[in-house]
Amino acid sequence: MSKITKVVARQVFDSRGNPTIEAEVFCKNLSASSICPSGASTGTYEAYEKRDKSNKKYLGKSVLVPVQFINSVISKKLKNLNIHDQERIDHVLIKLDGTKQKKKIGANAILSISMAAKKLSAKIKKIPLYKNFLIKNNYKLPFPMMNIINGGAHANNGLRIQEFMIRPDKAKTFSEAVRVCFLVINNLRKLIKKLGHSTSVGDEGGFAPMISDNESALKLIVKAINISGFKNGKDVSICLDVAANELIKNNKYSIHSKKFISVDQSIKKYLYLINKYKIKSIEDPFGESDWKAWSNFLSKSSNKIQIVGDDLFVTNLERLKVGFLNVSANSILIKLNQIGTVTETLEVIKFAQLIGFKTIISHRSGDSEDTFIADLAVGTNSNQIKTGSLARSERVAKYNQLLRIEEDLGKSAKMNKI
Ligand code: PEP
Ligand code: MG
Repeated sequence: MSKITKVVARQVFDSRGNPTIEAEVFCKNLSASSICPSGASTGTYEAYEKRDKSNKKYLGKSVLVPVQFINSVISKKLKNLNIHDQERIDHVLIKLDGTKQKKKIGANAILSISMAAKKLSAKIKKIPLYKNFLIKNNYKLPFPMMNIINGGAHANNGLRIQEFMIRPDKAKTFSEAVRVCFLVINNLRKLIKKLGHSTSVGDEGGFAPMISDNESALKLIVKAINISGFKNGKDVSICLDVAANELIKNNKYSIHSKKFISVDQSIKKYLYLINKYKIKSIEDPFGESDWKAWSNFLSKSSNKIQIVGDDLFVTNLERLKVGFLNVSANSILIKLNQIGTVTETLEVIKFAQLIGFKTIISHRSGDSEDTFIADLAVGTNSNQIKTGSLARSERVAKYNQLLRIEEDLGKSAKMNKI
């Protein structure tokens, strides 16, 4: 048994330049560290992110109080626990917090420790991190959903939909999947340039041109797919994250234009877009409490496309159960910091897979060089991963890690089912 000897935390910075927590867990002279990511379009039911709101030195965004709490109280509390007993480590932290949304200690403090512990356990076992999760053989690579045009809360271009993604559905290997996305992205850059727009990128590495209507973005992507020699809806599929929580007022939605329209009208427009642009996946098409709209949409789309709950489920088992009973989606987005521990994340993934939901591992819009989610995707047999575009090192780091995993698996490496 390897016992935890101490936990050290420090304030570091995320990809938006905001303070975040890095925790380093030690077993004698061996250690592993992990950095907590941070969202912009966050759901109400997510676990709590603790910041020093009253400390104006970092505009209320510093995390020095939770860092200090880890270095004093938590380090002592975890001392002598078995590093390989992830459930016990996580449950000690959950109990120490004692609140439903981890408001006392903060999910950012808890998660950074939880992930670091999982990494250190793999290091001590001398196995790669992806072999330290749920599955023990027959590993598969997830399909990437690359976010190539950024809008919503991740850019300032006025685009209603937050993420326009591509998924290389016919790729036989992960490196081929990346190559397909690389080609489409490069052709998209040329098209955007030709239109006289800026090719600078948003928070998740996708282009953020100053276009404000969804269909213009969709048309550009279809064109880029065609120029690259692929067939839209066959070789490459368009996937969206609407993040509709940000677009709701009095039960009406401003998804398709600035005008607020009813759920029924919004669904009609969705069905038109799905048909016209061969869209294969839509995340958060409606608000986090609008269960009825979700099930209505799922049945009207005849369950033919992937409908993904992000802010709806917030990686929370109780909410996923409600969603399952309400027949509101067929897939779940998995974000570790929405729930706050590795153990609870794995429980949600297990249940989702049991009920036949697709699991999609996700980054946050504020992320870091930490590649934990790449290993998590392979180690949990997750179908897809969304971790931005092929730009910005904090996004590319995850794709690079998946390329390393593919190499490590050698001939046995296969792509997952979409
Ligand atoms: C998302 O909404 O899926 C996302 C990754 O963005 P954020 O991290 O801002 O919630
Ligand atoms: Mg989302």
